[in-house]
Amino acid sequence: MTLSSRDFPTDQHGWSELLPTRQQRQSIQGRVRARWVVIGAGLTGLACSRRLAELHPNDEILLLDARLVGQGASGRNSGFAVGVSHFPGIFKAHEKVNFARVNRINQAGLSILDQQINILAIDCQWDTSGFHHGAADIASVKEQKYFMDYLNAMEIEHSSLDQQAMQSRFGTTLYKAGVHVRPGALVQPATLVRGLADGLPRNVRLIENCPVLKVQSGNTIKLQLANGEITADNLVMATNYEAPKLGFLRRRLLGSTLSGSFTRILTAYELASLGSHKSWGIISLHGGGATLRLTQDGRICLRNTAEYSGAALLSPLELKSRQTMHRSSFEKRFPQLAHVPFEYAWSGVEGMSGNGMNFFGQQAKNIYLAGGYNGSGVSRGTAFGQTLADYASGGQSGLITDCLSSDRATWLPPRPFLDIGAMLKISARFRGVGLDR
Ligand SMILES: Cc1cc2nc3c(=O)[nH]c(=O)nc-3n(C[C@H](O)[C@H](O)[C@H](O)COP(=O)(O)OP(=O)(O)OC[C@H]3O[C@@H](n4cnc5c(N)ncnc54)[C@H](O)[C@@H]3O)c2cc1C
Repeated sequence: MTLSSRDFPTDQHGWSELLPTRQQRQSIQGRVRARWVVIGAGLTGLACSRRLAELHPNDEILLLDARLVGQGASGRNSGFAVGVSHFPGIFKAHEKVNFARVNRINQAGLSILDQQINILAIDCQWDTSGFHHGAADIASVKEQKYFMDYLNAMEIEHSSLDQQAMQSRFGTTLYKAGVHVRPGALVQPATLVRGLADGLPRNVRLIENCPVLKVQSGNTIKLQLANGEITADNLVMATNYEAPKLGFLRRRLLGSTLSGSFTRILTAYELASLGSHKSWGIISLHGGGATLRLTQDGRICLRNTAEYSGAALLSPLELKSRQTMHRSSFEKRFPQLAHVPFEYAWSGVEGMSGNGMNFFGQQAKNIYLAGGYNGSGVSRGTAFGQTLADYASGGQSGLITDCLSSDRATWLPPRPFLDIGAMLKISARFRGVGLDR
């Protein structure tokens, strides 16, 4: 089946709308030959293209995206660049090696981002002082203990906070406890990806609004575009949850749709009611709990829904109904700000496998793919993208071994069983969430 441009819809999502309107710069037509093509200009594709350009300075790297940079998940996430993953449940000492492997990948991604943001002077609210994990209800208070056991056993820099400390930092009495973890960063995601895209090396040619409608693999790789065709020697798929549209990982990868809202910019008086920290991020210790940010420009950003809707963005009507959930979560935390309206609501789709495993490696002859990071793709996608370029170029490194060592993603049944299973799995995320939502 050949796709059409209509298979790659987009909409407004706040983080991009806070920036100047983005213009497409280049286009492509007719028959083109390329040594390297990367599909997807999110964090994975950007990191991969940059690295390919360094490794192959005499080749042009074609980077194609169906949308404008910043419209994919990389520009519409909550902006937590994870350094230390949270593995829920009782700490399993026999998993230490695996936990350390995942955290090495996260931290490699963090340091690549840190370096690029500094070199390219990207003004994206990048804050490397870590972020918080919060616990409001019984289940997550219990989870905090497990999390602390893990942090202690892994010797990860952190500090625990009681209810009073959480209140004085964030101006809410909702959290009974919290943990601040140092390796980690916060960012304005759309500014970050735009900055990375605009600072790509000269031998990367970025074409936006250019969906790849069909991929033919085999001895020659052919990509069908709306107005042309590319014959490629090597292809990297950095298409996140949309890889199945092109026939890859059909039975392994799916999309979960999340949504959240932003307030308007708070006044100095309102900000003063939020405690001592000028900007911050709190991830819930419950998998279904709300993710919160106070951005450096003074908005509260809150995300607390996740659902299966066939890997589609929410319609305006659906988004409006989800906003009632954002609103109640916001007012529960900040009754003193109940008068503050939301200015933007947004949805986005994260790629996931049935068992939480990521994808990295070769899919077919000269075709490589990385993706499916659930809610941890900011740092991990960056690390996977850069490492995939090394791997596809025949390199060897500890990071390649780490990325290849992820367990295999579980098989997913065909529709309609897939829809039912995915719905059940995603809604199970909210079991016992209570006050954390
Ligand atoms: C609401 C939300 C909140 C999140 N919060 C966080 C967070 O706080 N921290 C975190 O680490 N992660 C978070 N995530 C997950 C994170 O955003 C993703 O894991 C990460 O951005 C994936 O990056 P990527 O480059 O692999 O994919 P994407 O950013 O989705 O990029 C894939 C690109 O491929 C393009 N594409 C797809 N198919 C084609 C085609 N056929 N032709 C051309 N182009 C194509 C798409 O247009 C897209 O731009 C969140 C996700 C969502 C949706």
